[in-house]
Amino acid sequence: MYKAFLIKYGEIGIKGKNRRLFEDALIKNIKIALDRVEGEFEVTREQGRVYVEAKSEFDYDRTVEALRKVFGIVEICPACLTETRDFEDLAKEIIEFIDRTYEKKDFTFKVFAKRADKKYPMNSMEINVELGSRILDAFPDLKVDVHKPEIELNVEIREVVSYYSESIKGLGGMPVGTNGSAMLLLSGGIDSPVAGYMVAKRGVKIDAVYFHAPPYTSERAKKKVIDLCRIVSEYAGPIRLHIVNFTDTQLEIYEKCPHDQLTIIMRRYMMKIAEAFADKDGSLGLVTGESIGQVASQTMHSMFVTNEVCKYPVYRPLIGFDKQEIIEKSLEIGTYETSILPFEDCCTIFVAKHPETKPRLNIIKKNEENLNDTIDALVQTAIDTTETIVVEPED
Ligand code: ATP
Ligand code: MG
Repeated sequence: MYKAFLIKYGEIGIKGKNRRLFEDALIKNIKIALDRVEGEFEVTREQGRVYVEAKSEFDYDRTVEALRKVFGIVEICPACLTETRDFEDLAKEIIEFIDRTYEKKDFTFKVFAKRADKKYPMNSMEINVELGSRILDAFPDLKVDVHKPEIELNVEIREVVSYYSESIKGLGGMPVGTNGSAMLLLSGGIDSPVAGYMVAKRGVKIDAVYFHAPPYTSERAKKKVIDLCRIVSEYAGPIRLHIVNFTDTQLEIYEKCPHDQLTIIMRRYMMKIAEAFADKDGSLGLVTGESIGQVASQTMHSMFVTNEVCKYPVYRPLIGFDKQEIIEKSLEIGTYETSILPFEDCCTIFVAKHPETKPRLNIIKKNEENLNDTIDALVQTAIDTTETIVVEPED
């Protein structure tokens, strides 16, 4: 029934020069998203609006689904775009639109016109009144309700004239690519995929690093992380995923350091290695799925000690979330089902029975001295032998 979509985006923070950048990125990302949908589309812009027009047969549901994953879109309005500018012709067209769109003509409505093109001979109020009365003439059982109409008939007079009465909520946020890039520490758990999603939502391009420990962790665990990465990439775009073999580093820490401090020391080395990839990829920060107090390694004391090795800012978008809130978010974005598959991560395998919850930096640093002779070479080997793949959404 529809051949076009009017795309609305938020206007906060995109004034002036930024607006152009924002729109460019949004249009680019919309085109990439639609590349995976059958059909040909044209994406155009006019001040404050982006239009998506199908130029061939297309799959409506899949198109909406694709647009609903593009950050920066606030509303998706299936719309009719028309060349008609003459008011009488336009009114006729809109009456036909109502006729074919709504089977029962007994709803309340209001016309909401926006005249951005000030050369148009009628102003918004005049269009509202005139069009409203023509619609009432055509469908006598309709009623006008300006406060709480069941149907809001929007008419926008710009260079493009469009009308629509339906709106689908978009994700909001900023188009990916408008705000630098960050290195996500991505595990197979519930939290870190959500953390990556949330940072990408603010326009940040994501790269990721995953630490695995074969043969202690399985190929299935690795595949699970790649699968999670793929789901996140449906929103965030292609993700460069660095898969680090962490076994020897981890075994060395296991042998030389107190077991109750294992997780925290391991975490410090993960951060260091992640930063080496951040350097390579030009990231501006690290991202983790940590939330205060969730586990021993996420107490304020632990995060203080972990953070101390980092030269990059560490973004923890879930910091104030309860586990249940994170689970709800992961259900919403579609990572939950994969996250709860049972394949274990390296951290779970080497985890101590009673991990330190209040590590002291000086003690941790002292114990890390046991690693002085060996760890640099092991870390370097881990970096040099890393497998890097680009993870993209499935077709
Ligand atoms: P998640 O559900 O994200 O795995 P978690 O509750 O299991 O989180 P931890 O295991 O303490 O928490 O990990 C805290 C954060 O450290 C994770 O959110 C992730 O960002 C990072 N991390 C943990 N393990 C790995 C790993 N094997 N590879 C990459 N990053 C990891
Ligand atoms: Mg984990």
